[in-house]
Amino acid sequence: MLMQLSLPYQNRHDADLRRLATLSATGITLAGLVLLAIIAYAGWSSNQSSTARERTLVQNVINRGIARALSEQKSVAWWDDAVVKVTDANMDNDWVHSNFGIYLTETYGHDEVYILNGEDQPLYAFANGAQGEPSTFEPHRLVLAPVIDEVRSDTRPGHKKSNLMSRPDAFGADQSNYRTIGGPVDTARWAGHILMADGKLAVVAALTIVPNVDMSLLKNSPNLLVSVTYVDDAYVTELGRSLLLNDLALVPQPGRRDGIVSEPFDGDDGTHGGYLIWTTQRPGQVLLHIILPLVAFGVIAVAILAGGMLRRLQRSSNELAEREQQSRHDASHDALSALPNRPHFAEKLQEALDSLVPGSDEMRIIVAYIDIDRFKDVNDTLGHPAGDELIKSVAQRLRSQMRPNSLLSRYGGDEFAILWVASGQNAGDALAKRIERAFAAQFEVGGQNLLVTASVGIALSEAAGTTVDELMRQADIALYEAKVQGRNRAVFFSSDMARRVEERRAIETDLRLALEGDLLRLNYQPIISCHTGEIAGVEALLRWRHPQRGEMPPVTFIPIAEQSGLMPALGEWVLRRAMQDSRLWPQLQVSVNLSPVQFRQTGFETLLASLIDEYRIDPSQFVLEITEGVLMELCDRTNHTLDAIHTMGFLTALDDFGTGYSSLSYLCNFRFDKIKVDRSFVAGMSKSESYEKIVHAVVALGKGLGMEIVAEGVENELEAIIMTKLGCSELQGYYFSRPVETAQMCSLLETHKPWEIAANIAAPGACLPVAAPVAANG
Ligand code: C2E
Ligand code: CA
Ligand code: CA
Repeated sequence: MLMQLSLPYQNRHDADLRRLATLSATGITLAGLVLLAIIAYAGWSSNQSSTARERTLVQNVINRGIARALSEQKSVAWWDDAVVKVTDANMDNDWVHSNFGIYLTETYGHDEVYILNGEDQPLYAFANGAQGEPSTFEPHRLVLAPVIDEVRSDTRPGHKKSNLMSRPDAFGADQSNYRTIGGPVDTARWAGHILMADGKLAVVAALTIVPNVDMSLLKNSPNLLVSVTYVDDAYVTELGRSLLLNDLALVPQPGRRDGIVSEPFDGDDGTHGGYLIWTTQRPGQVLLHIILPLVAFGVIAVAILAGGMLRRLQRSSNELAEREQQSRHDASHDALSALPNRPHFAEKLQEALDSLVPGSDEMRIIVAYIDIDRFKDVNDTLGHPAGDELIKSVAQRLRSQMRPNSLLSRYGGDEFAILWVASGQNAGDALAKRIERAFAAQFEVGGQNLLVTASVGIALSEAAGTTVDELMRQADIALYEAKVQGRNRAVFFSSDMARRVEERRAIETDLRLALEGDLLRLNYQPIISCHTGEIAGVEALLRWRHPQRGEMPPVTFIPIAEQSGLMPALGEWVLRRAMQDSRLWPQLQVSVNLSPVQFRQTGFETLLASLIDEYRIDPSQFVLEITEGVLMELCDRTNHTLDAIHTMGFLTALDDFGTGYSSLSYLCNFRFDKIKVDRSFVAGMSKSESYEKIVHAVVALGKGLGMEIVAEGVENELEAIIMTKLGCSELQGYYFSRPVETAQMCSLLETHKPWEIAANIAAPGACLPVAAPVAANG
């Protein structure tokens, strides 16, 4: 029933938050994963580079082993004495044995030592722990030949360079200091390799025997020292110790265990010699086994924590958004009826007006302004909770009459507004019908069933460009008009209505000023007793001379006063003035008109009581005239007020009887002292007999109930006579006197002669007119 309320904020907010949460979660996860990856990579790569470094060191130490063997050879081979002592012809065998065989094997652990002459013929051989015949070299020649060839290739064209795998010449690099002395370095030749000898890998080193001081000792091609050092367990262990690889070992198969590095160990001739294995030092293990799990744990903990925090954040932000939405809703809705309030309605009306297409008058925006009739009475008589109850019920009824695209709003205290969108010229009729339907059934309020009515003002947007204020003003004017026309109706706005309303408003303002400035007057019209023909009383009638418009009839300005809330003050002014003036004619009854508004006004009885004291009047001198309109509403209350008025001692008259409903039951249900038969009856009497019959019946009933009958608007003698004949007790009308100013009334009382009754039309029990003494007629 309500217009679609757009709430994009909440959704946008949710989406933003969800996106933020997802983004943060992804960010945290990614950052965590990247951190873990970095640590894992750092651990892994530090392990890898450590192993690679170990492999390089192992290769280096093997090369160093060859260089060491050559250095050890050098300690005896680059020696003047060795050149002298080792000769083909005159070899000092003991010297050679102790300085080469014994020395190299025992001091440095070489396994085999051979010396070859310039033609590579064996001169000395040491193998298997003892010197042997030089010829014992021969079986080894083939294996050792590549190394020997490499040494000789430089100096002898026949020897081609071996095709052994080349190794860095660590020994050569170590001899750089020999160069500065000159010495044997230029002359000497050497070669060293790892070869497979006797089925075992061995370090084979060969070095020419040259003088270290007297180079002239070298005559021919130098002799050659060849030694073989087997790579056995001891050798490998020694290598390992120098590298701090304590478990370095040479094995036939590569190591399978985790953390074991296997490096193939092949001879330089390509023969496979097994694998060097060792436990690699893995510095990255700390990272991988301790730091990585710790960080992973930390990342997971952070993720869980962040997840929890995000969830909490989302929850509290959802709550916040809900609260915001709630307070936005509260700000735009009325708490009692739960309907959109005035600002919200204005906003939606603006939107609707904005959506109108200029130039096309297909769609119309219609505004209905609804005011519950006499809501104040419900509040005053049944109490405010009942008033609230009625508001809620009306809201509920109206709501049930709404359709999509319409908006119902509680506009003010007992006012509702409806925004309706429809097409066509008669677009508002359907709305008016629906509103009427909403009030058709009685409302149960405060345990009573009430027929509640409403006045409705309806305005239609004429074209695009109509403003909210303009449309609401028009609906307001139409509502005002509906009230003026007697409430319980829907009135459509028209332009001349606006003019009328403007005028009424202007009168209202001026009337207020007149009341404040004491510019009002009371006129008095005498009331003649049929029994005596004397002036029995006066009716006080309000007069106002408007500064521009001149004398204003009360029928024009009294409804305006009633409408605008001015009536209580105005009525009080009349009562005060009438009471004050009553001292001028204490022998007369003074009739004062009461507006229904006044009659219903709370505190009216109190006002009367205080006025009695203030003006020291006798209430029984006063007749309070009430129209039957008052009786149609809220019987209990009316009766109560009437009783109170009677109790105080005032008299009452039912005014204008014969207009409106004129139900005879009123006469039975409410106790009045007088009935004033309306002027229209008196005037109609001469035209139709039925009027006479009615008046007759009213007089009979009234008299039966102990009421006096006053005939109003008696304009000629005939009317006076007929009314008298019918049994009226008092007569009032222009025939006797028009309403006059106070001073005039006083002089009238002095000059007045009783109305003489015509003998010829005497009726039983009635006073008979004879002649009409016209008083101040004009
Ligand atoms: P009402 O109470 O019926 O007052 C009698 C009206 O009839 C007066 O009009 C009076 O001038 C007029 N009238 C009297 N005799 C004749 C006659 O022979 N022929 C014709 N044609 N009219 C006659 P007025 O003074 O213009 O008042 C009109 C109405 O305004 C009153 O009708 C009453 O309802 C209301 N009114 C006047 N003064 C007050 C007041 O002080 N308080 C309230 N609440 N209403 C007042
Ligand atoms: Ca009257
Ligand atoms: Ca009257």
